[in-house]
Amino acid sequence: MSPLPGLRPLGRDLAVDLGTANTVIHARGRGIVLDEPSVVAVEVRSGRLVAAGTQAKEMLGRVPGTIRAVRPLRDGVVSDAEEAEVMLRLFVDRVRTSRVARPRMVLSVPSEVTGVERRALEDAALRCGAREVYLIEEPMAAAIGAGLPVHETPASMVVDIGGGTTDVAVISLGGVVRSATTRVAGDEVDDALISHLKAEHSLLLGERSAEAIKVAVGSVSTLRPELTTRVRGRDLVTGLPKSVELGSAEVRTAIEGPIVQIVDVVRATLDVCPPELAGDILDRGIMLTGGGALLRGMDERLRHELGVPVVIATDPLHASARGAGRCVDEFASLERVLVADHRR
Ligand code: ADP
Ligand code: MG
Repeated sequence: MSPLPGLRPLGRDLAVDLGTANTVIHARGRGIVLDEPSVVAVEVRSGRLVAAGTQAKEMLGRVPGTIRAVRPLRDGVVSDAEEAEVMLRLFVDRVRTSRVARPRMVLSVPSEVTGVERRALEDAALRCGAREVYLIEEPMAAAIGAGLPVHETPASMVVDIGGGTTDVAVISLGGVVRSATTRVAGDEVDDALISHLKAEHSLLLGERSAEAIKVAVGSVSTLRPELTTRVRGRDLVTGLPKSVELGSAEVRTAIEGPIVQIVDVVRATLDVCPPELAGDILDRGIMLTGGGALLRGMDERLRHELGVPVVIATDPLHASARGAGRCVDEFASLERVLVADHRR
């Protein structure tokens, strides 16, 4: 998405949700101005950037040997700091309305990112032209974006199922009081589907096709009616293109492993909550955010297994960006939720 026309050329404050799967940018007073896959394509020999975002994602798994398409934040860790910076710079440049003004930036980073990596991303943001950089823990951003009353005493629970990580956080009085994270999320679901098709149908499938199947017919509870889709890939034995018909019940079985792990991390977090907090969560329910919240029946499955009400955030894919966005829009009142360690 390019900057909207007709705006005053001011460098607006930005909130950047640097997700493992998607990067979403909110500009102060304007709302969401960019939503792109966190993917870059670089020329292997020169290291030159060829594409970023949607264009680069299309190259994942199908580019010739001379170009490498990578997801620099894949598992919630910065697997390639240089590429992460290149990507951030490119996205920020796309939405900046002024080369001169230096915006304040609130950066939401995956919770698995280490202190050193956070520093590196913070420095990268400063090199991208930010005047000051503030970090916000992604589950906190997601909770604010989903409209949870994070400043109140009664606790709220947010479960953010992204691409590389699932984050569970219990929030009260503007802080995260209990949290857990696992590297099992959307990508693992796609991988489970790839393994299943290989084992049961001797069909080789790329990660983008697996994701498309998940979005088309994926579910974690019984569907009425069940769905079907046609899958194309390469036959493992003959090496030739082949297609098979796949039903949602079969997909559900195939992805059960990672789903159980996701449910378990939520259960484990509830288990270690002091009784008062557990009582609050029982009253208020769990808020589901992130793309994984869109997996059919995810809310019902959690409700059924944990006996706690579950609500899916409106527009769950943008919850963290909206939350970080509120921090730039209402900086004075929300500064407290930002991670204290910031530099000019
Ligand atoms: P991150 O914050 O890690 O970048 P997102 O919150 O953007 O992740 O969610 C991305 C994940 O959500 C991907 O694994 C993607 O496949 C999954 N996803 C997106 N839409 C859907 C959908 N409709 N059904 C199931 N999964 C979805
Ligand atoms: Mg996210």
